[in-house]
Amino acid sequence: MSHLMNTYLQLPVTFARGEGVWLWDEAGKRYLDALAGVAVCGLGHCHPKLVAAICRQAGALIHTSNLYHIGKQEQLATRLALLSGMDNAFFCNSGAEANEAAIKLARLYGHGKGIDLPTIIVMEKSFHGRTMATLTASGNRKVQAGFEPLLTGFARVPYNDLDAVTQVAVHNKNVVAILVEPYQGEGGVNVPQASYLQGLRHLCDQNGWLLMLDEVQCGTGRSGKWFAFQHSGIVPDVITLAKGLGSGVPIGACLARGAAAKVFKPGNHASTFGGNPLACAAALTTLQVIEEDGLLRNAWELGDFIRARFKAQLAGLSGVQEIRGQGLMIGIELSKPCVGLAEEALRKGLLVNVTSDKVVRLLPPLVIQRAEAEQVVNTLSDIVKEFLMA
Ligand SMILES: *Cc1c(COP(=O)(O)O)cnc(C)c1O
Repeated sequence: MSHLMNTYLQLPVTFARGEGVWLWDEAGKRYLDALAGVAVCGLGHCHPKLVAAICRQAGALIHTSNLYHIGKQEQLATRLALLSGMDNAFFCNSGAEANEAAIKLARLYGHGKGIDLPTIIVMEKSFHGRTMATLTASGNRKVQAGFEPLLTGFARVPYNDLDAVTQVAVHNKNVVAILVEPYQGEGGVNVPQASYLQGLRHLCDQNGWLLMLDEVQCGTGRSGKWFAFQHSGIVPDVITLAKGLGSGVPIGACLARGAAAKVFKPGNHASTFGGNPLACAAALTTLQVIEEDGLLRNAWELGDFIRARFKAQLAGLSGVQEIRGQGLMIGIELSKPCVGLAEEALRKGLLVNVTSDKVVRLLPPLVIQRAEAEQVVNTLSDIVKEFLMA
């Protein structure tokens, strides 16, 4: 009997070792990893520069406390500010915690403006995490059911619908912020119209709201730019990061700019582990390798390549609704639920997953090369065709 709490439906495999886009299970069978630990292992598995940096830092200093200055943390904040256009950073250990920080920041910002019951606009089909505030913010009943009472202070509108946000502005004077994913991940790899973030930026400017972007999944290079908002020409007030930032060493970040960067004061927020030397060394090295190895460009080019190849193989088949995404966030929406597809792919040595019941999702490492991408497309196309014929 397992002594683990029954929180995951796990596939029947235990991995023992990884290198680049490849994983090996305990029996020595090899798998092509097109999921990267759910958008975490952007550098692939056990990138030598990352392994060396982690070992070096572990030998020097692993943890002290935020009661003291942490050099690597200050370096990482400076680097992220430079890359994102934000002013400062708060470090934590996960995506949910990064969003918790953003939600607390928005509420405090509202109180500072004399709004006693601050409200944050959030989207249908969104995913922001599993803590009470972030599951309340998430637009998925499955994530919330059974955990009521939920928090107050959120107003939900459809994703990619600027008119709906405008309506909230007319009726609700307590709004202080919008929290939104530039591209939705868990909700089915949803890509909004090109002008969506610009429209949200405009509404935030008109109303004095903070634009807070959850880039936990689409950030850190996955979209083909450092951050997904950089495709839209706007600058947000708050950005949350986690997943790919530490390449598997847990780290999350809440970045802020302008008025939002001045909200937190000593005592308002904290984390014991947040931004410790080991996690910051992993994040700094992740950013360094993304730059040195040209991984933004690779994510952009290989993403386009993979989508084009899937379209050539699958588009037009009855049962294939849409092939979409941005950079190395790729979704293939089928017309019927296909959760079993992930296990079939596993048997054939390919790691993918299914989100939103009928969207096959790929989040390959940013280091994936053309031949590996071809193999992903060919293997998965065969599986999808077999599934649709069955
Ligand atoms: C995964 C994810 C989160 C939650 O991150 P955790 O590290 O699991 O807490 C939040 N937002 C988005 C967009 C995510 O994809």
